Amino acid sequence: SKPIWVVGGGLAGTEAAWQVASAGYDVVLYEMRPARMTPAHTTAFLAELVCSNSLKANNLENAAGLLKEELRRLGSLLMAVADETKVPAGGALAVDRHRFAAGVTARLEEHPRIKVVREEISTIPSDQPAVVATGPLTSPSLSAWLQKLFGEEYFYFFDAVAPIVTRESLDFTRIFAASRYGRGEAEYLNCPMNEEEYTLFWENLTTAEVHQSHLGDEEKRYFEGCMPVEVLAARGKDTLRFGPLKPVGLIDPATGRRPYAVVQLRPENREKTLYNMVGFQTNLRWGEQRRVFRLIPGLAEAEFVRYGVMHRNSFINAPRLLTAALQWKGGWPLFLAGQLIGVEGYVESIAAGLVAGKNIVRFLEGKPPLIFPRETAVGALFYHIINAEIRHFQPMSINFGLFPPLNVKIKEKLRKNRALAERALGALENYLRNEGK
Ligand code: FAD
Repeated sequence: SKPIWVVGGGLAGTEAAWQVASAGYDVVLYEMRPARMTPAHTTAFLAELVCSNSLKANNLENAAGLLKEELRRLGSLLMAVADETKVPAGGALAVDRHRFAAGVTARLEEHPRIKVVREEISTIPSDQPAVVATGPLTSPSLSAWLQKLFGEEYFYFFDAVAPIVTRESLDFTRIFAASRYGRGEAEYLNCPMNEEEYTLFWENLTTAEVHQSHLGDEEKRYFEGCMPVEVLAARGKDTLRFGPLKPVGLIDPATGRRPYAVVQLRPENREKTLYNMVGFQTNLRWGEQRRVFRLIPGLAEAEFVRYGVMHRNSFINAPRLLTAALQWKGGWPLFLAGQLIGVEGYVESIAAGLVAGKNIVRFLEGKPPLIFPRETAVGALFYHIINAEIRHFQPMSINFGLFPPLNVKIKEKLRKNRALAERALGALENYLRNEGK
């Protein structure tokens, strides 16, 4: 049979190639660097870490740590190399970025079933089984092709995400559920502010520290319809009150009156365990987001599972386009992986590569795909990606808010997370013993 293509030798693509080759299939891995670089990569290595050398928390009480442990148990090459090349970093798993990327590159180049070809791919023949993992900085030619294949409205170039908080961290004595003018279901949660609270919030927002923007002028253009909340606030004290924080059509049941201003939260998933802060796309530093947004009534103890960001990020509308196996619904065995499918983060991208790599093999062998239980981190992440609202789809990182709740209520967070992690590893073991063989 013809070799399977993997397009993109980043974090997802190298993991996918390894999984396919380990199953006994020939792979051609296409990587455009070094002939053609991206705006963020600086070397010719496969699996280059473009920014931080940290793969985030390593302990099981953290969802990112749990995801890593599951990937180890699933035979991830990149986790093995990360563990071999780690450097001291407290509770996090940080790596020597050079040894990590060089290690992955060597393992792939030495593998008898993997051929690494340094070439930019712009189209994929429609009978060629392939995994596309070209990442947040997918080259323009391939982006254009994917846009044509999937429909322009389902391929995005930029990411302007408002912070996401967990429902359980909200103070419901300060918040009320209602939709504006009582129309439709009361989907939104509303955080009402009086004049004093608004003024304090506005003063802090307009003086908070922002990230230096990496965007060029051309890219900034795309954001005109989607201005950072701090830039809008800087236009004048009342601008937000007449914009995203407008109180019209909302009555606070606690006072019987219209509040001075209202911050609205919209459910981010169907289970309503996560909420998105409407209109709060931002370039504030993460610590500043936590400090300033916790001044909003009801958010004093908010847990942020994702901070707001505005950056270049190519991704597709996965809930519209992909099956739970990470296969394109539209045609030939075309699988997608990595940041391109709307996961966010190094380890999440590796996880996507692993799942897509294993599943393309199973597809070609006529076996049912691996769809991991929702109790596992890898299952919870892809369940969200595939089942999120098509209309509001935004990239997501792994977090415990994506997991089904425990049957018992545990108040203390560390203990609760430990219980979620134990349940996850049990579910994974069980799945592998039965369906996932
Ligand atoms: P990549 O690792 O980018 O791999 C894609 C590969 O495809 C690249 O090697 C690219 O050269 C190649 N390619 C692109 N187009 C083609 C083509 N047409 N033909 C052949 N090859 C092609 N996440 C974190 O967890 N921590 C961070 O600190 C972090 N910092 C980031 C900083 C920036 C500037 C960006 C853009 C993203 C960052 N991310 C970070 C998010 C994300 O986790 C990483 O981008 C991650 O590398 C994504 O993995 P990937 O495999 O999807 O893409």
